[in-house]
Amino acid sequence: MITSTTGPQPADFADVRATNLAVVLRFVREHAPCSRADIAASTGLNKATVSSLVADLIDRRLVRETGLTENRVGRPATMLVLDGSPYAAIGVEINVDYVSAVATGLAGERLLTWRRSFAGGASVSQDVAAVAAVIRRVVGRMAKDDRQILGLAVAVPGLVDVQGVVRFAPNLGWRDADISGDLAKALRDPGFAVQVDNDANLAALAEQRFGSHAGAADLVYLTGEIGVGAGVILDGRLRRGARGYSGELGHVQLDPEGPPCRCGRRGCLESVAGIAAVLRREPSPAEIQVEIEEVVRSARAGDAATLKILDSVGRGLGRGVAVIANLVNPEVVILGGYYVLLAPWLLPAVHEEVAGRVIAPGGCEVVASTLAHDAAALGGAARVLDSVDSGRLPGGAARLA
Ligand SMILES: [Zn+2]
Repeated sequence: MITSTTGPQPADFADVRATNLAVVLRFVREHAPCSRADIAASTGLNKATVSSLVADLIDRRLVRETGLTENRVGRPATMLVLDGSPYAAIGVEINVDYVSAVATGLAGERLLTWRRSFAGGASVSQDVAAVAAVIRRVVGRMAKDDRQILGLAVAVPGLVDVQGVVRFAPNLGWRDADISGDLAKALRDPGFAVQVDNDANLAALAEQRFGSHAGAADLVYLTGEIGVGAGVILDGRLRRGARGYSGELGHVQLDPEGPPCRCGRRGCLESVAGIAAVLRREPSPAEIQVEIEEVVRSARAGDAATLKILDSVGRGLGRGVAVIANLVNPEVVILGGYYVLLAPWLLPAVHEEVAGRVIAPGGCEVVASTLAHDAAALGGAARVLDSVDSGRLPGGAARLA
């Protein structure tokens, strides 16, 4: 840190340059192939500055020249695209019965998708050791391909504070666990940042970058795992709330006389329209996938009792969706997790309830996720790419992050 007191400090210039590098990188991500002149015209930076920034990005191997030119009046312009071939972003999701890992390149292209069964909840240290073993294998695979890790973000089903400490993850039995610190230690200070966030938050980021409504500035993602949580993106940004605990839609009470909820209250959305309501009992984590597939088979066969249950779950879910739609007016609410498999039978009832309850003209679109069970892990990678886009750039002589 620079501690002298007067005048603009070199750190300020470095900040401006990092910001401008990020602006140019984002422009190339969104508009490639594009020329230096395109960047100057759209960003308002002058041509000499753009040339210097592009040279820096080429140096860091974040951008490359294609060799193609754009034929214009006057000199032909060399076109630029994202490079990023020496880099990878890693996202991991820890759940009760599985660990998922995804690695993507700088442009979001998928390099690896793994899902491993996992018996979580024994103890934090055992869980961390098991997850670290998976991460080491991913990092090893990326190293073989000569890729440097841009960062790692881990999705956890639970309350994660703004510092990344897991305050409570009931299904894993974790309380006040510094998972990012523990993982960094288990990975022996790996040289990249380890972030931890709530699974719904990261899944929402994945939808915003990779999903069917990518680019939507206002969207809500609803997890359909054992718990029901919401990841909320408003005005283009993930909204975590004052301490990081926003989005607990699963514990909005829909029916004071309803079934007991795992939180100790009654009639929460989670108890009325969660997976337990679909299965009509508290599911055992290891069996959920098989049991949901059985429900899908019965529904396909037209079993009346199953269809009745799914209609009632869809109505409960629709009432919950209407609450958040009336509160934050999203462009779309995206149903994830096991809801994706059940969507053909849930969505008609959801749409009907939402249409009858949402005040906003035009209502609110509700769709099933196209990212399915990869959403939270993919969102981890998206969060790492977001931090690159906002100026935490790897490589180069003047490393700024
Ligand atoms: Zn509850």
